Amino acid sequence: MIEMHDVWKTYKNGTDALRGINLKVNSNEFVYIVGPSGAGKSTFMKLIYREERPTKGQIFVNGFNLEKLKPRKIPYVRRNIGVIFQDYKLLPKLTVFENVAFAMEVIEAPKKLIKKRTMEVLSLVGLAEKHARLPQQLSGGEQQRVAIARAIVNNPSVIIADEPTGNLDPDTTWEIMKLMEEINFRGATIVMATHNKEIVNTMRKRVIAIEDGQIVRDEQRGEYGYEI
Ligand code: ADP
Ligand code: ADP
Repeated sequence: MIEMHDVWKTYKNGTDALRGINLKVNSNEFVYIVGPSGAGKSTFMKLIYREERPTKGQIFVNGFNLEKLKPRKIPYVRRNIGVIFQDYKLLPKLTVFENVAFAMEVIEAPKKLIKKRTMEVLSLVGLAEKHARLPQQLSGGEQQRVAIARAIVNNPSVIIADEPTGNLDPDTTWEIMKLMEEINFRGATIVMATHNKEIVNTMRKRVIAIEDGQIVRDEQRGEYGYEI
């Protein structure tokens, strides 16, 4: 599903963000990525959704070698990865419906299907009745639900979530985590970076710890392993 072979990332300013990452994430796994700030977690995630390219090494997603991808395959690989951010990244002038539908429009899905599928995922995240609102008319937790709906609307096999609960209060955090579990249950592979010790130690999953650009721990049903 996701494989990395000796992946290195050095940014233009000379920062070595990742230094020799090797890993394999199987289909339908739920993986937490933990580690101190600046450890390389976001860089690791960005390489998977191809926001950044590795300086060295090979990355495979769904059997596609991202470094040898033919340009015409890029949209296909992209639609198979849904991304969720800490700050939601919704388009402020579009309604809830439009924000979600947009992700289907960019892949040129048929109009009828867009309407049906968008309402379907909005129902799944509990926001069907708020489809006509603007993001600013929603709570943070609701905005993140919209972002989750957008991430799953094209039915991707992989969900990348970078600190998805970082801006949310504890109750809302648990609601969002239940939703992530539901999405995983429905078949998606989830890779989620988090600083939330309570989540990791309660909803036990595989834990991969990154420090200073390297994997220092990889445990099934692992623990957060850091104070705070
Ligand atoms: P984390 O997500 O664990 O906080 P990052 O992947 O964001 O870590 O950062 C890893 C290292 O790479 C840090 O030293 C950070 O300052 C550096 N870094 C991240 N993005 C860039 C960039 N675009 N240019 C230069 N350095 C970067
Ligand atoms: P760009 O040309 O800027 O890379 P894309 O065509 O990939 O943009 O996506 C357009 C918009 O659709 C993005 O701004 C983003 O909000 C949304 N989007 C695209 N792919 C995804 C995804 N996998 N998960 C969540 N949102 C996405």
